[in-house]
Amino acid sequence: MGFTYETLLTKYEPVLGLEVHVELGTKSKMFCGCSTVFGAEPNTQTCPVCLGLPGSLPVVNEKAIEYTIAIGLALNCTIAPYSRFARKNYFYPDMPKNFQTSQYDEPICSNGFLDISIETDAGTKDFRIEIERVHMEEDTGKSLHMGGATGRIHGADYSLLDYNRAGIPLVEIVTKPIVGTGKYAPEVARAYVAELRDILRALGVSDVKMEQGSLRCDANVSLRPIGESKFGTRSETKNVNSLRSVERAVRSEMLRHGSLLDEGRRVIQETRHFHENTGETTAGRSKEQAEDYRYFPEPDLAPVTPSKDFIEKIRSSLPEKPSTRRKRLQENWQVPDKEMAAMINADVLDLVAATVELGADPTRARGWWLGEIARLANEREVSAGELPITPKDVSEIVQLIDSGELTDKLARQVVEGVINGEGRPKEIIANRGIKVVSDDSALLSAIEKAIAAQPDIAEKVRGGHIPAAGALIGAVMKETKGQADAAKVRELLLRHLGQG
Ligand code: ADP
Ligand code: MG
Ligand code: ZN
Repeated sequence: MGFTYETLLTKYEPVLGLEVHVELGTKSKMFCGCSTVFGAEPNTQTCPVCLGLPGSLPVVNEKAIEYTIAIGLALNCTIAPYSRFARKNYFYPDMPKNFQTSQYDEPICSNGFLDISIETDAGTKDFRIEIERVHMEEDTGKSLHMGGATGRIHGADYSLLDYNRAGIPLVEIVTKPIVGTGKYAPEVARAYVAELRDILRALGVSDVKMEQGSLRCDANVSLRPIGESKFGTRSETKNVNSLRSVERAVRSEMLRHGSLLDEGRRVIQETRHFHENTGETTAGRSKEQAEDYRYFPEPDLAPVTPSKDFIEKIRSSLPEKPSTRRKRLQENWQVPDKEMAAMINADVLDLVAATVELGADPTRARGWWLGEIARLANEREVSAGELPITPKDVSEIVQLIDSGELTDKLARQVVEGVINGEGRPKEIIANRGIKVVSDDSALLSAIEKAIAAQPDIAEKVRGGHIPAAGALIGAVMKETKGQADAAKVRELLLRHLGQG
């Protein structure tokens, strides 16, 4: 098909709608006292309430309300002094009550916004994403389809159900339709989810692990002809589970809609699934007919009526905004916008900050996370944060370079070892027998060569201008292919030039 992204943009304008589900990190479930710890034996974290047994009565988790209000406040929402839970009725085996307790026409938070920015060739562009609502609900259980090749229900012999997840507090954050992003729609979608994730992380309300499903995004996309005010038909790509996939899914849906419309065909309103391997979506469930969930107010739960004091107390303990923190870090580290954007894009800002906190120099910390580590992450098609290397490892490696126990080149071998799972830096140095070259005669001949090549610089050092020695040390390191001990080279060189 000759339909390109550029052609699409000459005719159509995208409209986005992002729904983000976040599992709250409360100790107990939304309406009962069951544990929420991930990975327990199936069905060991259940009780009559979350199994929906007749006669059991739910009670709202106060911590979950506090967390949800914190999210609403961080997103500049109005907090309702009175809101109710509702029953969303439908049948599905992973939902033992046959209804989901959710909020419907009375969400606890509404009408907020989140400001985001993206880096473009034309500089930084800011967007305000309007938030429609933030509401509380509960997660469903998990179905495991056994016996088939794919783990999907199709072709399976039987299914197993695990209700440990049933009733875990979920918060849904829904945007108003996002217009005016044009060609940047995929980047805006990604930046919004990234900023939201950073806020949720800063609030400490969730572990926000997209790959484990504690943060998931449904991306609604539609196109309308440029100049048209009515929205087009949307598709809803469900449960996209990485930032990169959010961007790819939006772009791929824009292209799919565009080529359909261009051929005079129509977009079907449906849910879709994004596939990491192909970068494309496939059809899910049709939404052409609105489902009738027969919502009604939950009679077993008291309305949620947070007092002004309760809300103000939460407001006054909100943490520093991620955008403010980024500005502060940028100032402390003295890095240009481009470098800052590079760290954010590679999702290593927190890793760099943690490395600096452990004592490493910001430039060096950034160099490792954006350089060698990012390169290895790329090779393995994961993000740097998913690799088994930690800020502690990196700060240790920087320290070992400073103390002369590692050269840059050897340090790269150590980094690779850590990422290969060979252990912590010191273990790798011991196991691999990594050692710097410090044979005096070999170093001296490299030093003489460097001096002969840059006699004017050598003269400066002789004259007492010690900082000039850096260039000569660099030349020696190059000559010895990075295996020399820089501290030792420095000592020998200065002595050689009458400064030792
Ligand atoms: P649903 O229950 O069908 O998912 P929601 O209202 O919860 O509906 O979410 C729909 C999301 O899609 C919201 O973010 C909304 O702003 C957005 N949206 C609505 N209409 C369109 C459209 N035509 N194109 C793109 N996004 C849309
Ligand atoms: Mg939806
Ligand atoms: Zn329970």
